[in-house]
Amino acid sequence: MISVTGVGRTYGKKQNSFAALQDVSFSVPDATSLAIVGKSGSGKSTLMHLLGGLDTATRGEIIINGQNLSNLKAKAMDNFRARSLGFVFQSFFIEANQNCYQNVALPLEINNVPLSKRRALIEEALKQVDLLSKINEKAGNLSGGQKQRLALARAIVNKPQLILADEPTGNLDSATGDRITKLLFDTQWATNSTLIIVTHDQELAERCDMQINLRDGKIVNIRHPKPIIKPKKVKPLVTKIRGTT
Ligand code: ADP
Ligand code: MG
Repeated sequence: MISVTGVGRTYGKKQNSFAALQDVSFSVPDATSLAIVGKSGSGKSTLMHLLGGLDTATRGEIIINGQNLSNLKAKAMDNFRARSLGFVFQSFFIEANQNCYQNVALPLEINNVPLSKRRALIEEALKQVDLLSKINEKAGNLSGGQKQRLALARAIVNKPQLILADEPTGNLDSATGDRITKLLFDTQWATNSTLIIVTHDQELAERCDMQINLRDGKIVNIRHPKPIIKPKKVKPLVTKIRGTT
């Protein structure tokens, strides 16, 4: 469960200050997908950075799985991120000079996953994004779509409870973008995690359980999870006859 209460983020000081987010409140149940939509400059990335603990709110509080982010010191925040979060951010780029194995290994290193267990996890993640054959390839030699898949492999290698994806298909052609999207949703299903995705793609936003629409740093609309439709009760085909068993 994620709960965001009265969150604001103001950049700059005094007369030069600018409120990139104002009084943002919402909550996201576990294992839910949430799309954040809004025009450029509406505060989507600012919100994602706050949720990922990469930036600190100037007001309000963010609680992720019982952990109040503002109570975490730098080291504890690093550990929390490495343990519970997966990032697919354009700015959170991969290391071009390191190979795919090393790139995906990063969250495992921070998490102190023993060396003996790393290779299997890394291979599994690379396999999921269809990059296993590139395991020893320098990340800098990959195409744009492959780099984004590598970022995804790194984001999911720890099976995080929360995956944050900021316009993960932004710079990709539509076929590659569709592939990344499918992988994100498949991972969310397979690991029962929560997926928060910033997107301009209305079709993609519609596929999410929840949608939040930001304008000028404020929430203008929240679409809550679709009600779970219970399957209709079906009459049993064979009625048990008393006394036959
Ligand atoms: P979006 O991701 O929706 O395009 P952002 O969250 O990146 O929007 O930015 C929201 C607003 O905050 C924009 O007007 C942007 O210029 C401003 N902003 C973002 N980061 C900073 C910063 N580090 N310093 C000052 N202003 C910023
Ligand atoms: Mg942005």
